[in-house]
Amino acid sequence: MATVLTPPIAPEQTLESTARVFLEREPKPQPQEVPFGPLRVVHAFWLAGMSCDGCTIAVSGATNPGLEGLLTGTLPGLPKVILHHPVLSVEAGDEFVENFRLAEEGKLGAPFVVIFEGSVPDESIAEETGGYWAALGVERLPDGRHRPIPTAEWLRRLAPKAAAVIAIGTCATWGGIPAAAGNPTGAMGVMDFLGADYRSAFGLPVINIPGCSPVGDNFTETVAAVLLFLQGLGPLPEFDELGRPAWLFRDTVHHRCVRAGFYEEGIFAREYGDRECLVEIGCWGPVVQCNITSRGAINHMGGCMNVGGICIGCTMPGFPDRFSPFYQAPPGSMISSNTSRLVGSLIRPLRRLSMRYANREPRWDETGRVPSGWGHVKEPSIFERAVHFFYDKWQFWSAERPGRTDPKEMYAGGYEVPAVRKRREARR
Ligand code: SF4
Repeated sequence: MATVLTPPIAPEQTLESTARVFLEREPKPQPQEVPFGPLRVVHAFWLAGMSCDGCTIAVSGATNPGLEGLLTGTLPGLPKVILHHPVLSVEAGDEFVENFRLAEEGKLGAPFVVIFEGSVPDESIAEETGGYWAALGVERLPDGRHRPIPTAEWLRRLAPKAAAVIAIGTCATWGGIPAAAGNPTGAMGVMDFLGADYRSAFGLPVINIPGCSPVGDNFTETVAAVLLFLQGLGPLPEFDELGRPAWLFRDTVHHRCVRAGFYEEGIFAREYGDRECLVEIGCWGPVVQCNITSRGAINHMGGCMNVGGICIGCTMPGFPDRFSPFYQAPPGSMISSNTSRLVGSLIRPLRRLSMRYANREPRWDETGRVPSGWGHVKEPSIFERAVHFFYDKWQFWSAERPGRTDPKEMYAGGYEVPAVRKRREARR
């Protein structure tokens, strides 16, 4: 076990932590056992395991709702969230850790949620050599020495008392990169660490918001939805069988991809920078549940395929081992992309024909020319006219054409604008 050289904390010392300040400001304890509001404040304890802090960065860029709205309590109906975050909090040292101790001892006077970023390492492996993988704060041992408290241990201590445990990012949800083949840490996701029987104080299993890094809005939106439920102002949001917010992770990337039309017509990019579907240079979008293409990375901007990148499956429990090696066509894509290519070779020419037809004003057909100063527009060939003759018949089969053509219907009393009448008669 590691020995720490920091000066011992005086046991009788009372620390001025944020949680204590709020407890003094709000002396009347809020309901902690009942899942329905009204709640004035909710504490959020952010723990980091094997993490790169990418989830923190993603959440700090969230816009809808923004993190600042949650932290200032300005979102209608939602309680103020008091965030205890190892990087974002202004407190440090023992005062910062004191907040976690108050939560562990049930002395916050308000409900709290635990948010875990990064995967949970197997600390028993590190302990064998007297070290630790990820820790937050220290505690005094009976012999006077101090030991770092692993974040995995904080998770174990706080999870049963938390209103909800939220795993953010693929490392925390499914183990992610730190749990990839060959890792020495025994890393795993929060769900694997706490087990299938885990339920929070409010009866919820672990909530999983995957992504490497996740879409920040996916996190803040889910937190807001859960808080609305706890306030009694909304239904419990729908989660799938893996604890993902169902409305965010039901569809595949491919369903909403800006390049899906190219896939459907069997047109594929050959190299990065091409604008077509990226499946043949390594995109796994058709089988990956993620909303990055519709939600964007930040503020509805960016997001893998929107900016030319392939999908490497970072939201999925099988990531990264089941998606490696990256930047190669997924094995199953050969069947589906060749089928698209075959169907597309039939559909594409027909669509181009219709597109050329729809690209003409009806007036240009009457005058027989396109008055464009930008370039010569080719007139339709006899074949195209013939195709459209039959297409037109089919389109208006047992349907009325737009516009009124009978003068009696056009104006009351059968009146017709003289110039229009003249043109009509001239056409006969
Ligand atoms: Fe689907 Fe990927 Fe192609 Fe987009 S780029 S259409 S997600 S395969």
